[in-house]
Amino acid sequence: MALVAVSKTHPAEAVAEAIAAGQSVFGENRVQEAAAKFPALRAAHPALRLHIIGGLQTNKARDAVRVADVIESLDRPRLADAIEDAAQREGRLPRLLVQVNTGDEAQKSGVARPEADAFITACRTRFGAALTGLMCIPPAEGDPAPHFALLAAMAARHGLPDVSMGMSGDFEVAIAQGATLVRVGSAIFGQRPAPPPPA
Ligand SMILES: *Cc1c(COP(=O)(O)O)cnc(C)c1O
Repeated sequence: MALVAVSKTHPAEAVAEAIAAGQSVFGENRVQEAAAKFPALRAAHPALRLHIIGGLQTNKARDAVRVADVIESLDRPRLADAIEDAAQREGRLPRLLVQVNTGDEAQKSGVARPEADAFITACRTRFGAALTGLMCIPPAEGDPAPHFALLAAMAARHGLPDVSMGMSGDFEVAIAQGATLVRVGSAIFGQRPAPPPPA
């Protein structure tokens, strides 16, 4: 079980403090923020590992491939194309997790549940051993346990070792259901500032 400390919106100094306390794996949901914050930290701390955990636009795939050790949000064929192309150009391929929209929520990233098995198989064929697992964010309302159980079963069915699930509010439930990666932000770094009002 590994802890991904989600440092989005928090400054590089907060990450440096967490590194000093022994944490080495971090998660960011915006590629631009990660690209601004992490190269200097990485130069100073070679053991640091960065996971991109947010919905990823295809035009950000190249930056993501450049900065990330793990991309947890592979969720559609066009993004797979963009990552494959970027990996060829950059000469590096991060580890990849397929994000599954276990609640089939219209506003959420992730491959829809009915399409997940076929998409995972296609990604396996395309990326081979770089595809190591699955990730989900259950609906905000309701019991997350069935979503976590579904994701763990799906990963097992595909022989994938990484199961990324659980955040500050539900990581204990996720661990009980077989999480191998939990993504915890506010419980470590404190509340994030409110997002700016819409323009
Ligand atoms: C922000 C975020 C987290 C961490 O959320 P907390 O509730 O602050 O722990 C986890 N996963 C994803 C995908 C996130 O965007």
